[in-house]
Amino acid sequence: MGRGEIDPLKPKVIISAQLRDEVKEALRRLLNDVADVRFLTNWSSRDSLEEVMEAEALIALHEYVDESLLRHASKLKVVSRFGVGYDRIDVKACTKRGIYVTYTPNVLSNAVAELTFALMLCLSRRIMESDKYVRTKWAKAGRCAFPLREDLAGKTLGIIGLGRIGTEVARRAKAFRMRIIYYDKIRRLNTEKDLGVEHVSLDELLRTSDFVSIHVPLTPETTSLIGEEELKKMKRTAYIINTSRGPVIDEDALCRALEERWIAGAGLDVFTKEPLPLDSPLIKMKNVVLTPHMGTHTVETRHLMMSTVAEDVRRALTGKTPLNLVPEQKDVFPLKRKEGI
Ligand code: NAD
Repeated sequence: MGRGEIDPLKPKVIISAQLRDEVKEALRRLLNDVADVRFLTNWSSRDSLEEVMEAEALIALHEYVDESLLRHASKLKVVSRFGVGYDRIDVKACTKRGIYVTYTPNVLSNAVAELTFALMLCLSRRIMESDKYVRTKWAKAGRCAFPLREDLAGKTLGIIGLGRIGTEVARRAKAFRMRIIYYDKIRRLNTEKDLGVEHVSLDELLRTSDFVSIHVPLTPETTSLIGEEELKKMKRTAYIINTSRGPVIDEDALCRALEERWIAGAGLDVFTKEPLPLDSPLIKMKNVVLTPHMGTHTVETRHLMMSTVAEDVRRALTGKTPLNLVPEQKDVFPLKRKEGI
């Protein structure tokens, strides 16, 4: 049977066409024996309804999966999020319909923590400007007249959200000899002991940190967690790094903070609107480092994410409970011993 043809006997799996070609093709290869795999650009559009109605699995990148979609997806068994943030998936609505929601925790934490550090180092050592300086000014200047910058060692890092990624950031900060404080709605006593991190209030974290790094999920509680009032509490010499979700920071307030120098700078991988529009004030600012929501974009991490997603979809399609259910579903669909776990 050729690629374009539908095998009526196999369950249909729809993969987000927003995923990179090599990821889509690898997922197709991994699932080909149990499923008929399709790529769809916009599965909420009317034109896609027929395909959605037949689908037993959806593999989502940035798409929304909500009531209006689920209403048509009567055969759906699993929604698998290629990533760890599932703020665009209505988990309650899926659970009500007996649909599994899976994600890819843990396997991507190293990559995001490394990017967080890359942003911190770019800011503290002005790597972007230094690169430009070498290309345009150094030879003419004859000696390095580039201004002195700052150590990370001895500085205070404030981590907002000490979960999987926040903990990996703390591990790296310890190796960099930073003082680490954190704010989380849950006390992480083991991590406090293992890594010597200290739990503080959000207020204290903002007032005392030299670097603030955000690692909370996007929820109604964390939307605009950092606004004008919070940014004004930060030291004028401090930097903020956001590799979580754009709306956790009020972006207008952040732009004012950067323009008016309430804080020293920002490293941002995520934005309220993505891709970041070219007319965003952030584009022209020198005290920011911007990356295109690429926290997990490493070969190793993408491979691990692919195999995690493929395995969970395979399990759902063959009558087994997926291994990486979102926390809200862990008690709803417990793993059964006879599945060999
Ligand atoms: P996690 O669930 O392990 O950790 C989140 C932590 O935030 C938890 O410790 C939780 O208790 C805490 N938290 C939740 N709500 C809070 C609140 N209102 N106040 C204080 N603390 C709160 O998640 P993770 O795997 O570390 O991922 C964190 C987030 O990173 C994801 O939800 C996702 O949005 C983002 N992310 C971004 C990229 C990227 O490409 N930039 C990649 C992966 C994940």
